[in-house]
Amino acid sequence: MLLDFSNGIEKIPVLISQKDYKEIKQKSKFQYILNYVSSSKKIQLFNHLIQPQCWNQNNYDFGGKLIQMEKISHNLIQEPIIECHENQQCDCRNKVVQKGLKTKLQIFKTKSKGFGVKTLEKCEKGEFICEYCGEILTKKECEKRLKIPKESNYILTVLEFIGFSNSNQSENLGEFDPKLIVDWEEKVSEKKFPFIMRTNIDSEYKGNVSRFFNHSCFPNLSIFFIRFDYQIPHVGFFANRNIEPEEELCFDYGTFIHSLEKMGDCDSKVCFCGEECCRKFLPNFSNFFD
Ligand SMILES: [Zn+2]
Ligand SMILES: [Zn+2]
Repeated sequence: MLLDFSNGIEKIPVLISQKDYKEIKQKSKFQYILNYVSSSKKIQLFNHLIQPQCWNQNNYDFGGKLIQMEKISHNLIQEPIIECHENQQCDCRNKVVQKGLKTKLQIFKTKSKGFGVKTLEKCEKGEFICEYCGEILTKKECEKRLKIPKESNYILTVLEFIGFSNSNQSENLGEFDPKLIVDWEEKVSEKKFPFIMRTNIDSEYKGNVSRFFNHSCFPNLSIFFIRFDYQIPHVGFFANRNIEPEEELCFDYGTFIHSLEKMGDCDSKVCFCGEECCRKFLPNFSNFFD
């Protein structure tokens, strides 16, 4: 018999066997949530960007699949995809991520990577799977948590291109400069308008099914940033190719951090993704803030 790992929180159950459910519950006090919770007063989650009119964006096709995936995912630092909010009066098709999970997924025990997530049904290229939910950490809290030695780290740090404060700045995103990164709590005035926003999401204690996605060097999921309500972007996982039932869902933990060239030091853990192009070690972010 399969249980619902989300305890009815998701619109459709996130399946798991009784045995696996027990094992996870014994190991950790994990709480299933949708969206985000803030770990600090410095980070405010609710700042609605809603306008009454339609944004008139065509991000998705009539089946709800993301259009132009390649174009967006090849950018080093992505610009967000703007969805119309469900409170907006339009009935356009630009409302996908906010509707939540609709694919039947199962958390299961993999051969060599601990728990993982597989899809029980076919997913087409461009289909939205789910968000990365968790606690939004300040830079300080993130540094603190990364210093605690532990078996696994569930902090996802994403970099999102927001905009330029004036036209004198280089518009070449390829020339990536870590100095342009600003954390959410530093966005204090318009004078200091950020260029690239860093968001730290920790799903170790609170999160959703995506906490159990494993890394792959040749993943079937890609990450996109979606905005429709919060100051903070939603991180959406989309199928980057057609995926068959029973296939494990994976993403590349290192996608957004490559340019910092700080990965792959000697404490890195061996990668078991089994792909031909495997980089042999998992991306390591322990010195990301040095
Ligand atoms: Zn609309
Ligand atoms: Zn690998």
